[in-house]
Amino acid sequence: MIISRRSFIKTTGMAATASTFLPGFKFEDTSALFTPIRRGTGTFEGRGGTIGWFVSDESLVLVDTQFPESAAECWEGIQERTDRRIDFLINSHHHGDHTAGNPTLAPHAQVIVAHENVPVLQKAAAERRENQEDQVYADTIFESEWRQNLGDETVRMKWYGPAHTGGDSVTHFENADVAHLGDLVFNRVPAYIDLPGGSDTANWISVLEEIHNDFSDETVFIYGHGNSAFGITGTRADLLEARDFLTALREHVQNGISQGKSADELLVNGLPGFDAWVDPNRPSTLHGRIRSVYMELSK
Ligand SMILES: [Zn+2]
Repeated sequence: MIISRRSFIKTTGMAATASTFLPGFKFEDTSALFTPIRRGTGTFEGRGGTIGWFVSDESLVLVDTQFPESAAECWEGIQERTDRRIDFLINSHHHGDHTAGNPTLAPHAQVIVAHENVPVLQKAAAERRENQEDQVYADTIFESEWRQNLGDETVRMKWYGPAHTGGDSVTHFENADVAHLGDLVFNRVPAYIDLPGGSDTANWISVLEEIHNDFSDETVFIYGHGNSAFGITGTRADLLEARDFLTALREHVQNGISQGKSADELLVNGLPGFDAWVDPNRPSTLHGRIRSVYMELSK
């Protein structure tokens, strides 16, 4: 069955979130999934974490790879924009919804770049999930910062310390002033917390403030995920919203722990003052985050 993704979303009222995917459907029009931002940068929303791209006569950069099927769709659309191979394929962090498309895109890429913790965490996660054979790892790693001239653009990656995982990079296209944050921000969605993957919610709060200070109100940020009302791009004010939500989540759990409550007793469907963050159809998302923070703070 062939339907247009756009019309499917319209007719069913399904939110065009990054996590939406319909196995078995062939989308006739992938161009609806591409959104240009400025100076050759843009986003691709298929299934999983938002892909960022930079296309010029001199360079092609992709940030994140989603899953094999959507990575193939993305590559199809990119080829309509350029004949180049991928000069730099970037992994913002190791999670499967950002790296499972590596095997699809790696044959078209010169190198895969990531923070040095990414291949390590990806390997450990693959061993836990027993899907080692599906992995392709970054072959170009850096410790704190990596910068590359792309002709009329410069790309810079920076690691701010453990936050969403132990290996999150911010990828900044400096002249466009567009920054891909990976999953450092889930825009108005309770962010996935992955303790074995190195999540550190206290440091995450500091990292969001540090990133906010490093950029300006002109910077356009690309987020790994976002709800349908706020979307997957925005400005640095969103970073402070994400910081405040994480802070409120930690306080809610810490207060409960101090009162001797169990994790089950702390499950709520929303946090006061954060109505936009709750999907009434999926209260379990927040429940999962409360359980993760409970485990983190009980350690
Ligand atoms: Zn993630």
